[in-house]
Amino acid sequence: MTFGWQLTREDSREECFVVDAMLGRLAKWLRVMGYDTTYSPSMSDPEAIREAKARGAVLVTRDKGLAAKARAEGVETVLVGEDLESQLKELADRGYIDLRIDLERTRCPLCNAKLVRVERVRVRRLIPEAVANRYEDFWFCPRCRKVYWPGSHLRAMRALLKRLREQIKGG
Ligand SMILES: [Zn+2]
Repeated sequence: MTFGWQLTREDSREECFVVDAMLGRLAKWLRVMGYDTTYSPSMSDPEAIREAKARGAVLVTRDKGLAAKARAEGVETVLVGEDLESQLKELADRGYIDLRIDLERTRCPLCNAKLVRVERVRVRRLIPEAVANRYEDFWFCPRCRKVYWPGSHLRAMRALLKRLREQIKGG
């Protein structure tokens, strides 16, 4: 059974998404969780459909009209609810995502580039001193040159994902 679960998990990690213009918060979460996620607040419906088709991506939307149009064009589409937690659970329930953050796969929440793990000495000048003193591991976005570290924000995200996993197991 463990093998089957792992297989699903590996498969789901390769999933990539196009997220509609209303779902900016979900897009950031998917990127941090390691999923290749196309999102732009200015992306139109036809652009979203075209992009999903071109990349073989799953389209995630809150918009029934867009979902219907995308499905009519053969795009795999997930229609999600209004709040972030229900959106994440919906995607996990259907086997598209694993509700965990793997820092080896994490992507920049702002631009979707894969983050690179860097040593503290290489980013020291880019971060506040208190942060440099407190953390050893840092991640760097090669595209927007932003530095990330596993601070309170990441802990809060992990706590929420753990809670969602328990809800799914319990339900
Ligand atoms: Zn970036």
